[in-house]
Amino acid sequence: MYDILIIGGGPAGLTAATYACRAGKSVLVLEKAAFGGQITWSPRVENFPGFLSVSGNELGDKLLEQAMEQGAEVELEEVTGLEKTNGTWTARCDSGAAFEGRAVILAAGAHPRMLGLPREEELVGSGVGYCAVCDGAFYKGKAVAVNGGGNSALQDALLLSESCSKVYLIHRRDAFRGEQKLVEALEQRENVEFVLNASVTALLGEEELRGVLVEQEGRSREIDVDGLFVAIGHQPDLEAFGQWLDRDKAGYADSGEDCLTVTEGLFVAGDCRKKAVRQLTTAAADGAVAALAACRWLDR
Ligand SMILES: Cc1cc2nc3c(=O)[nH]c(=O)nc-3n(C[C@H](O)[C@H](O)[C@H](O)COP(=O)(O)OP(=O)(O)OC[C@H]3O[C@@H](n4cnc5c(N)ncnc54)[C@H](O)[C@@H]3O)c2cc1C
Repeated sequence: MYDILIIGGGPAGLTAATYACRAGKSVLVLEKAAFGGQITWSPRVENFPGFLSVSGNELGDKLLEQAMEQGAEVELEEVTGLEKTNGTWTARCDSGAAFEGRAVILAAGAHPRMLGLPREEELVGSGVGYCAVCDGAFYKGKAVAVNGGGNSALQDALLLSESCSKVYLIHRRDAFRGEQKLVEALEQRENVEFVLNASVTALLGEEELRGVLVEQEGRSREIDVDGLFVAIGHQPDLEAFGQWLDRDKAGYADSGEDCLTVTEGLFVAGDCRKKAVRQLTTAAADGAVAALAACRWLDR
């Protein structure tokens, strides 16, 4: 039996593991895909303190190495459910394995919704992105497109219009879902063009994106861009744990900055939690807060 089971080996989960181990707790991190989490999709990170530029894979490796150096144990397992009996948590995995712990930190993250186009995954980091705050600076002086119609898409387009030569905002309807104020701000920008009633149907370019094919009112249109930011929402990975949490409308764990949940002994950290800013720094911060809260709870 471990003191703390951590579900998710991204920046939040691995930071939590480092802090909990340093506080003297035994820790097991369960990760279903790649230690490092979402950031392993990114070839270049330039906003993580202490690193001028680092690949997402390298950063993920360093987070893992640091947690293991402090004594964390790790397993590549997908947790499919959590049970609690007489104060002991059991994490059940799809392999049939089960692990027990006295406390659990859920750090299962979120994933951006993809368009589902051929070669989309291959072009991530080579023109296709899901986070303008993260990657927008790589497109300074270049033409880009944003796909989406909610506040995130509008905010991404505004941010990109500060540094890009041209921003096409592509939306499948004739009106945006996001705030009118943001729409008006975009209308004032000379380098922003709305492409409405339009869907991106193909990604153009071999190794790097060089444009998108758009279907607009029955006609095909090719738009030359170096970057496409897909902003059609994110989805938290909490389906398997719903019974233990309050969640907001979008499915995120409804927890405050203290990372506590409505369930005793269950804590939540990182992108799977309701929050305004989802970044590496905020995920790492949550990891520390959740770990120390779990340690205090165990020592109560
Ligand atoms: C392409 C891209 C580029 C980005 N660039 C930047 C950037 O430059 N700067 C920046 O600050 N942020 C960037 N971000 C955002 C940043 O990656 C996230 O904010 C951060 O990774 C969140 O960390 P997390 O640990 O909360 O979640 P995640 O990174 O999502 O990690 C959660 C982990 O939990 C695992 N998991 C989920 N469910 C289960 C389960 N049931 N069982 C076991 N494991 C499970 C997942 O496989 C995943 O590895 C980028 C994101 C993307 C997608």
